[in-house]
Amino acid sequence: MTQRVTGTGATDHGGGVWSVAVPIPDNPLGHTLVYVLDTDRGPVLVDTGWDDPAGWDVLVAGLAACGTEVAAVHGVLLTHHHPDHHGLSARVRAASGAWLAMHEADAHVVRRTREYPMERWFGYLVDKLTAAGAPAEHVAPLAAARDAGRVPGLAARLPALPDRPIPPGELLDLPGRRLRAIWTPGHTPGHVCLHLEEEHPARLPGRGRLFSGDHLLPGITPHIGLYEDPDDRTVTDPLGDYLDSLERVGRLGVAEVLPAHQHAFAHAHGRVRKLLAHHEERLAGLLALLAEERTPWQLAERMEWNRPWADIPSGSRTIAVSEAEAHLRRLVKQGRAQAVPGSDPVAYVAV
Ligand SMILES: [Zn+2]
Ligand SMILES: [Zn+2]
Repeated sequence: MTQRVTGTGATDHGGGVWSVAVPIPDNPLGHTLVYVLDTDRGPVLVDTGWDDPAGWDVLVAGLAACGTEVAAVHGVLLTHHHPDHHGLSARVRAASGAWLAMHEADAHVVRRTREYPMERWFGYLVDKLTAAGAPAEHVAPLAAARDAGRVPGLAARLPALPDRPIPPGELLDLPGRRLRAIWTPGHTPGHVCLHLEEEHPARLPGRGRLFSGDHLLPGITPHIGLYEDPDDRTVTDPLGDYLDSLERVGRLGVAEVLPAHQHAFAHAHGRVRKLLAHHEERLAGLLALLAEERTPWQLAERMEWNRPWADIPSGSRTIAVSEAEAHLRRLVKQGRAQAVPGSDPVAYVAV
């Protein structure tokens, strides 16, 4: 393909697009690919990377390797609110005066994270996990955090408030470029992909390039859990949203995908089909487990993860249960499973 590494840590993707691999400390993902998009008003970043001194240095050096500097950054487009994407945003804005843009649904999550009292958040988690059948020893530390009103060791730094929304479906106001926001909820409620509707610089067949964030990655299945909004009782269906978003992105027929982790790749359609098949398989596996009545926790214990359940630490188990619940929601919505009336904690069974 058309990539070549330019000196210190930037990759030239051609056509005024570069990427800088900003490290994520102590994380098997390794790094976030921050994209630099040249516009007539200066460089625009897609995501910023994890907030860490080493990551900042890599970003600064990477921008220099692209022939620009942090102070020149015109704006930042955020695919979603997660800290490996939005972490350095405040620092970039302080150094450049750049605007930060994010889809409204994820901006809502940022506002909530900034304003929500810790004890209410942990109270929500305790209630939710108890209702899902989590054992007392799993819930106890969360209840202790709720009662203490704080979490030892948790970073005090709050995520930056975005300055403007990313309106879905619209061409963004980027002089000299044709970039359209595609709302792809699922991984988060306000995740967006950004479609660069310009001919591929190496004339790969297809329609332009897609900055895919965490929505479409070459070798990783993104986490799909519940949206976890303590104030919103709407029964959302994040996995349904994700599968729907995947199909829409597959239909774009892009020539190349520029994801936020791993590496750029062509053949988006094949990758979409693989992910759709993966989730269908997971749903079928879950349905087989629901031959017997089981709580979300009991399902999570029996589902397949990247390691045995006994080796999964407590925090990751909470995430795993959320993922099990997202798959359950889908089965219920499809009429393939239902809650057992009167069960507490709530158990589910195949229909
Ligand atoms: Zn993410
Ligand atoms: Zn990510």
